[in-house]
Amino acid sequence: MRDHIAVTSSVYSIGLSELCGAEVFLKMEHHQTTGSFKLRGATNAILQLTEEELRRGVATASTGNHGRAVAYAAKAAGSSATICMSKLVPENKISEIRQLGADVRIIGSSYDEAESELVRLVTEEGRVIVHPSDDANIIAGQGTIGLEIVEAVPNVGTVLVPLGSGGLSAGIASAIKGMRPHARVVGLTMERGAAMKASLEAGHPVQVKEHQSLADALCGGIGLDNKLTFALCRDLLDDVMLLSEKEICTGIRYAYKHENEVLEGAGAIGIASLLARKIPSVRGPVVIVLSGRNISLDLHRRVIEGEHFAFGGPW
Ligand SMILES: *Cc1c(COP(=O)(O)O)cnc(C)c1O
Repeated sequence: MRDHIAVTSSVYSIGLSELCGAEVFLKMEHHQTTGSFKLRGATNAILQLTEEELRRGVATASTGNHGRAVAYAAKAAGSSATICMSKLVPENKISEIRQLGADVRIIGSSYDEAESELVRLVTEEGRVIVHPSDDANIIAGQGTIGLEIVEAVPNVGTVLVPLGSGGLSAGIASAIKGMRPHARVVGLTMERGAAMKASLEAGHPVQVKEHQSLADALCGGIGLDNKLTFALCRDLLDDVMLLSEKEICTGIRYAYKHENEVLEGAGAIGIASLLARKIPSVRGPVVIVLSGRNISLDLHRRVIEGEHFAFGGPW
């Protein structure tokens, strides 16, 4: 992957370090090409494909960022991509994917409905699926973030990771626990529609209703036939914490006002967890993974100006 991926820095945060009484570093993964870490997994998966598979083209279902990463990586590999998304995916993410020349299909009103179209595509058009999270190549790709964290902060004590369907957490936790078994890895997700949290509590993958959230990149199910991410998150995450929409707003605002960084909701959830004091007895140094920046200008402006978002209807 090395030639295709930006190594991102871990930057010391003066304000958050003071707040926590421990060293806090921001892993700037929102500066990754395509605006999120998803390019790591997508690139690793697409690099494994044969010439024949690349000719057939790839397909995926996505909440947006994985779709953009697959569209980009497929184009770079001389292949083509079809991206299935629900109508909950924000317009700014859809238009970026179209600009990369991918074939965009908007299906249904949840990630799980979009994923069902994917199955049809693969059967009828012969495309190769690049799964957003539940795949060893994807998890390994996202795991390179963990390698970079240990390189930059060798004595890391806690890693805070945004948690959706668990590819990012599974990859980072595998890398961190492999090299620093005593470091804590905590998954962070939104209060409503947290599929992995509900599944961990049930002891097996369960389906939850998808809600609109400021952390749209964390929405969607983990799949009732989940193969890898459920077990890895169950075995490797020390904790999973839930954040309210209001707390996520506060994270986005803090990142902009105090760190000069534009973050989408999912990307800001780690900062939000420290501000909301959701992490019990913080063990430093802390590394917060800032996972993405793909928020629409208008939504970002409204959050910065102090609006809070209680989702339920369309924006
Ligand atoms: C996909 C995504 C996540 C969550 O990753 P999972 O592998 O689904 O857990 C977090 N942040 C951003 C910005 C994302 O795009």
